[in-house]
Amino acid sequence: MVSASSLVAAFYKQFPGAPAPAVYRAPGRVNLIGEHTDYSFGFVLPIALELACFTAAAPADGGMLRAFSVNLGQAREIAVADLAEARPARDWSDYVFGVAQQLVRAGYPVAGCNMLIHSTVPTGGGLSSSAALEVSTALALLDGGAIDKLELAKLCQRAEREFVGMPCGIMDQYISVFGRRGAAVKIDCRSLECEYAVLPEGVEIVAVNTMVKHELGSSAYRERVRECGEAVGVVQRHRREVTSLRDVGRAELDVWRSEMDPVVFRRAAHVTSEDERVEAFMEASRRGDRAEMGRLFVASHRSLQHDYQVSCEELDFLVDTAIGVPGVYGARMTGGGFGGCTVNLVEQEALAGFETSVGAAYRDRYGITPQFYRSKPAAGASRIG
Ligand code: ADP
Ligand code: MG
Repeated sequence: MVSASSLVAAFYKQFPGAPAPAVYRAPGRVNLIGEHTDYSFGFVLPIALELACFTAAAPADGGMLRAFSVNLGQAREIAVADLAEARPARDWSDYVFGVAQQLVRAGYPVAGCNMLIHSTVPTGGGLSSSAALEVSTALALLDGGAIDKLELAKLCQRAEREFVGMPCGIMDQYISVFGRRGAAVKIDCRSLECEYAVLPEGVEIVAVNTMVKHELGSSAYRERVRECGEAVGVVQRHRREVTSLRDVGRAELDVWRSEMDPVVFRRAAHVTSEDERVEAFMEASRRGDRAEMGRLFVASHRSLQHDYQVSCEELDFLVDTAIGVPGVYGARMTGGGFGGCTVNLVEQEALAGFETSVGAAYRDRYGITPQFYRSKPAAGASRIG
């Protein structure tokens, strides 16, 4: 646990003589369902986590922007005057200075500043440590200045797309900003409106970390973005108004199947069916139908595993093991895939047994102890000190 006071103490140690810092918190997230749909402008259903990125920041003379990551024990700096034309360094500072660059380009005043960053979100674990870092440093750089919440989320997304070079959708930044305690957030990634959903009593959300991240991840992500575009191109020949897979139902896709490359068809089959599963999950949740919620989780995983092909052996093993444990309603990979976490819906009374048996099975198979994160929907980003 990182407290505002411990962060402030670490800040003074790193930046002796600096003025008193303000402290900001921006959460990571776990996506319940609606995977790889955001960049097709579809639906997603994440919760914000207690796990978060904390940033302590105070103004500094000399026009330098300095960032220190406690997690990495590394410092980076850039002159504010150089931000507008800055090029990525291809390391973690890109998330921070990319956000600063977007703020400058959008006309927000950015001044010299010292920042100390400490995150409890595991990095590269599919719980979106990157968006947590972007949003918490954006708030720190704004130094209490007003910004529209949606503008904040979009600006951080632009930083990741344009500066980091990851063609991501809006989900991670949106939920880090708009997360709500006690509720999942159904986001319409086209209209950018959201709806809050309270899950039935007694259903616990547990993320399980494979502790692996296969290198394939970012190139495959770009490839999937391209394949979705190719599928849209085929549908557009017949319906010109279609601009993304969001506009296409799973059943309609079959009509154009013969014109599509078989691999592209399977990618589109995932996205269109996944959008429909988000709606079905919302309905099942409203009825308190835990079995159906779990069934949709597993259907989502199979679709990601076989049609979208972004899973990996370790994720499949965790899912297959979890769904064999009594009291588990469903399990699926969450986040970009190729490692990172699964998300599990578990009956409250079964939690301890779930962790023991899944942990032991994974250790036996891979010699790695997986991390478990019992996840309650937490609030979105704010100043905390
Ligand atoms: P995810 O968002 O799923 O955790 P990403 O690959 O999108 O995975 O982002 C992880 C990257 O974000 C890290 O490799 C690092 O560059 C950066 N990052 C996240 N948190 C921190 C932190 N506390 N300090 C430094 N860099 C961080
Ligand atoms: Mg990320």
